[in-house]
Parts: sequence; C-alpha cells; structure tokens
Amino acid sequence: MRKNLFNVGALFHGFRTTFSYFFYKKPTIEYPSVKKQHAPRFHGLHELRRYGDGKERCIGCELCAIACPANAITVIGAENTPEDRHSPGERYAAKYEIDELRCIFCGLCEEACPTDAIVLTPRFEMADYRRGAFVYAKDRLLVAPDEGVGQAPDERPNGIPSDLGMVSEKKSTVDVATGYDATARGKYLKEHRRGLAG
Ligand code: SF4
Ligand code: SF4
Repeated sequence: MRKNLFNVGALFHGFRTTFSYFFYKKPTIEYPSVKKQHAPRFHGLHELRRYGDGKERCIGCELCAIACPANAITVIGAENTPEDRHSPGERYAAKYEIDELRCIFCGLCEEACPTDAIVLTPRFEMADYRRGAFVYAKDRLLVAPDEGVGQAPDERPNGIPSDLGMVSEKKSTVDVATGYDATARGKYLKEHRRGLAG
C-alpha cells in the first residue's frame, strides 16, 4: 500500500514537471517556414553582386582567392572587349567558383575584394546529396541582371567604382527580414515562405 502511494506521488511529480513547462513560450520555431534571427555579423553563403546598371562587379583580380585561407576560391579572369563587356574594368571573371564545403565562412574574401563583388549573405541553407553540388559556380553565385546593388560605376577609364561600401550597408543581417531582403535568392525565399514576410 505504501509503495503504491509512493508511485502515485512519483506520477504527480512527473505531471507537475510537464505542466510547469506547458505554458512556457516554446523555444522551437517552425523551420524552414520561420527563420531564426541571425547575429548581426552572421556570415552565410556567398553572392557575387552587380552594379546598378547590371554590370558584374567582379574584375577577375583573384585577390579573394589569394586571401582565402581555405583555398576554396577559383578565379580565372578574361579580358573584356567592346563587343563582350561583362564588368566596367579591363577584366572580368570568366570562371568563378567557391567550394562551400571547404569554406570556413571567415569573410576574408569579402574584405579583400576591391569592388565589393563577393559578399557573404545571411543565407545558410546548403544541404545536398553530392559533394560536387557544393562547388558554387557563377550560375549560382552571380545575382540576376536586374538585382544590381549600388549605383552604376563611374565612367572613368577602367570603370573605377564609385559606391564602395554600399553593399555592406545593404546586406544588414540585423533582422531576418532585412537580411533576406538584401540577397537575391533571399527575396525569393521571403516571398515563398511563411514567416519571412516581416
Ligand atoms: S569566407 Fe573565408 S574561407 Fe570562405 S571563401 Fe571567403 S575567404 Fe575563403
Ligand atoms: S570577387 Fe573581388 S577580389 Fe575576387 S576576383 Fe572578383 S573583384 Fe577580385
């Protein structure tokens, strides 16, 4: 009899713990419909930006590849021609690849870039089944032609850019809505997923 009373007491003790958490604010969120707020300086997946007039910011200088401590970036530059102009400078990146599995998201490529072309966005979803899928080439890094960020570059010889610093201002990651808004694919996610509408 005494043992049974002890078991009933243990049951109530368990229920008390359960019910004490019943009315707490739930720490879980409905990911992926709802995203957690990033830290202000969160470093996520990369994006190659354009100028406001649609030209690529990247001038194929390879400084980002040299700065990368993980050897994750491959850049092969090529000459612009009057008939085939990609960037305002003499050169552009004919090939630009980042191995996101090698990347340690340190942001040194962003720091090294003289034209604010490569930026780390607040996006972090990168799951896939094959290792090769994590090597992001220009088709996945370069934003759409109408997604330019910043003003058109100066028309001085070699197209010296005039709006350095605007990208970092635009890619604020202080809150989810703003951070996602500042990325090309983030805009798509924001429109298509609940919880990002702000
Ligand atoms: S964030 Fe760092 S590790 Fe990743 S590509 Fe840029 S420089 Fe390399
Ligand atoms: S992203 Fe920037 S640093 Fe890297 S090659 Fe292009 S212009 Fe140079």
